Amino acid sequence: MTEETIFTKIIKREIPAQIVYEDEHTLAFLDIAPNSPGHTLVIPKKPFVNIFDIDQETFAQTMKTVRKIAPAVRDAVGAQGVHINSNHGEAAGQEVPHLHFHIIPRHDRGEFQFWPKIEYAPGQANEIAEKIRATLSAE
Ligand code: 5GP
Repeated sequence: MTEETIFTKIIKREIPAQIVYEDEHTLAFLDIAPNSPGHTLVIPKKPFVNIFDIDQETFAQTMKTVRKIAPAVRDAVGAQGVHINSNHGEAAGQEVPHLHFHIIPRHDRGEFQFWPKIEYAPGQANEIAEKIRATLSAE
């Protein structure tokens, strides 16, 4: 769990936000600095930092709200698609240490650039996949 953040203040209505949905476990509101109009954030009310500390149940509740909100966001701005993005850890660009999903409307491919792709060195993919499988089987 995290300390007080800007998002816990939004949950408690201590600072204003354009809240579009709320239930017992989650909240959805417009991002203050949108990547595209309608850019919405979905958060659990419990202040987990990110994917590395959240429990499965709260994560599932959060994803349920993402599933509910995404089509409404798309339709509200007449978009054709959405990016659903989530940054976990400072190295991944997470700025607010309270888990959140970005729902970002997309109208056409020219609007964004995906991250560049790299190639594996020979044997590297196998080595990494083996390590992931070993970690999972040790749990
Ligand atoms: P991150 O970089 O952590 O994945 O995303 C944090 C997001 O929170 C950013 O897109 C930023 O614009 C948004 N944000 C930061 N402060 C506020 C705020 O006070 N209100 C709202 N609605 N969004 C915020």
